[in-house]
Amino acid sequence: MTAQTDRRPRLLILDDDPLVGCTMQFIAEDLGLETCFVSTAMAFFAQLEAWQPTHIALDLIMPDMDGVQVMKRLAGDRCRARIIITSGVGSRVLDAAGRSAAEHGLNIAGVLSKPFSTGDLRQLLAGAPLGPPHAAPATSPARPSAAPPHPELGMAELRRGLDADELLVVYQPKIDCTDARLTGFEALVRWLHPDYGPIAPDRFVPLAEASGLIAALTERVLELALQWFAPICGEGTGLAGGRPLSLSVNLSAKAFNDLDFVDRLAQRCLQLQLAPERLILELTETSAMDDPVASLGLITRLRMKGFHLSIDDFGTGFSSMLQLVRLPFSELKVDKSFVMTALQSEESRTVVKSIVDLGRSLGLRTVAEGVETAEVFDFLRKIGCDQAQGYHIARPMTGDATLRWMREHAAAR
Ligand code: C2E
Ligand code: CA
Ligand code: CA
Repeated sequence: MTAQTDRRPRLLILDDDPLVGCTMQFIAEDLGLETCFVSTAMAFFAQLEAWQPTHIALDLIMPDMDGVQVMKRLAGDRCRARIIITSGVGSRVLDAAGRSAAEHGLNIAGVLSKPFSTGDLRQLLAGAPLGPPHAAPATSPARPSAAPPHPELGMAELRRGLDADELLVVYQPKIDCTDARLTGFEALVRWLHPDYGPIAPDRFVPLAEASGLIAALTERVLELALQWFAPICGEGTGLAGGRPLSLSVNLSAKAFNDLDFVDRLAQRCLQLQLAPERLILELTETSAMDDPVASLGLITRLRMKGFHLSIDDFGTGFSSMLQLVRLPFSELKVDKSFVMTALQSEESRTVVKSIVDLGRSLGLRTVAEGVETAEVFDFLRKIGCDQAQGYHIARPMTGDATLRWMREHAAAR
């Protein structure tokens, strides 16, 4: 095994049969992958954390833990590595495992029935689609719902894109529910790929998280967004009815390991003469609660410097009220899945209203995202939600288009 900086893809193999493990290592290394073979689930998770593999080969049946349990945990950890399921069991079990993996949003490369040929494994490692001879699960896990990275969009390609400055930040306005005044923007990253055009973050942020590039990505997004926002922050106040504007940026929990991050961000704001209070850092509910202790440290430091914190995608995780109170968030963002369906679903309306009530009683600002219609906007206003964001108000736009939108929006009000 070589150091983290090596950009070669890495295959972590979990199999209780050393012969299978060694055969896989041999084939994968021949294809240029780094490999590591472990035979227990415990060693597997230790290695997963320390080594950050890009590919995983997983035996479905093992003595100390079965593959389905391992996959559940991988899904819980939001693992983005490409997973090859290996097994000697029948196709019904493989089917179920594949379905379960796809439902959990794992990036399944395919299923390999033992005994397999060198060619079968080669094909999967090279990212080629699975042919019918293997019991490919019915729900087609080769393309799971959580948008897998394009075959060409591996870690090396993302690094190239970062170095070549191909990231672009777009901005989506947030408005006040009571008077429709502009309150601020959320910065959302896009990758302007020279061959594939604009690529959505769901396609490469998980890759960045899995490959250790997330800190570099986050810093780049912050730099671009702050450079755009700092000059208009004061000037835009006129267009926002005299109210100061805010800029929201998404933070990945995986970008937090760096202790200097908070200080660097504070320093950069100082250079740009931007008050930290203008910046809102959004952290998803799931990532904040994954490791509440680490999150508490980071969140507290950010708050001490004056930054605001927002809990994103609220309603999709399992935060307890106690955790919410303990972590010093200032804003709660209702997940768009409930907001988008608020008109059609009584349940969604109940969830949105409960979250808004909870936010209010905890003294948090509430923001609903995914507001696609005037009717939903009216509903939000009636239930006392503070702010709204969504296609009904504006789609995410480039910096220049956002400035034009600001003027038009101020004139129309
Ligand atoms: P998010 O933070 O929940 O961002 C909101 C997403 O909802 C954005 O998708 C936005 O374009 C979309 N959206 C906004 N209004 C509507 C609407 O009315 N209807 C519908 N259907 N969608 C709406 P986008 O830009 O594709 O971003 C997806 C996710 O990628 C974000 O979800 C966020 O988790 C992540 N992301 C985006 N930029 C960054 C970044 O710079 N860093 C990190 N770590 N993650 C990012
Ligand atoms: Ca967000
Ligand atoms: Ca969200």
